[in-house]
Amino acid sequence: MIDMKLLEILACPACKGDVEYDAKNEKIICTECMRKYPVRDGIPVMLIDEAEIAAQ
Ligand SMILES: [Zn+2]
Repeated sequence: MIDMKLLEILACPACKGDVEYDAKNEKIICTECMRKYPVRDGIPVMLIDEAEIAAQ
């Protein structure tokens, strides 16, 4: 589980869009470009190189 206050200050490093937490899959998802960032040990890994890019 991650800190929701932390989530509020996070932004997507690729597009600076807002992000939301997918608790089921433990991913941070950008609501703008739909990149998915991993969460490791409760810490969001906000790195473009680590992101999964959703198929359009
Ligand atoms: Zn984005």
